[in-house]
Amino acid sequence: MELVFATNNLNKLKEVKAQLPESIKILSLAEIGCTIDIPETSNTIEGNALQKAMFIKEKFGYDCFADDTGLEVDVLNGAPGVYSARYAGEQKDANDNMHKLLENLKGSSNRKGRFKTVISLFINNEVYSFTGICNGTITSKKSGSKGFGYDPIFMPEGYDLTFAEMDLKLKNQIGHRGKAVQQLIIYLKTQS
Ligand code: IMP
Repeated sequence: MELVFATNNLNKLKEVKAQLPESIKILSLAEIGCTIDIPETSNTIEGNALQKAMFIKEKFGYDCFADDTGLEVDVLNGAPGVYSARYAGEQKDANDNMHKLLENLKGSSNRKGRFKTVISLFINNEVYSFTGICNGTITSKKSGSKGFGYDPIFMPEGYDLTFAEMDLKLKNQIGHRGKAVQQLIIYLKTQS
């Protein structure tokens, strides 16, 4: 089975490829000749995942899936949420985003939040959606050098390590994207 993963994020590609069985071959956007920045204009995580998957299906004709992820912080009423990528501005810079979040949480004793990933799968003219959630806390400073995005300031519940201090294998086992991908795999296995 061949599926396009509609992402330009090489970190996401690496995480997802590490989980999928060999029987599911992933094509990257580069491999199908898509060099466009896929629009993400919805105001929900679900909407953006669907928009990205539909874009590839409509413009390139491939069955595909897309991931959209947000970090929801309780005391900030769910922000940055769907706006996580551009929280500190259009430059979409991870350090700027983390800095802004840490500033906004300064002095807050409630630092609970969660990562939420929605994967939209467009296959055989049907759409399916898989959601993965990982609860945790926002640390007070950055720690670790693995992973990407907000990983250095997110400590998943039950662990004393940030995502950026964990091996990919553990992040995939307990993390938001990993959980969504596990459901995707279960579904795809029923199709082959
Ligand atoms: P998007 O899904 O690519 O739109 O990601 C939204 C924002 O969340 C971006 O700033 C990403 O860097 C960040 N992000 C997405 N997935 C993760 C993750 O697994 N860990 C940390 N940050 C992430």
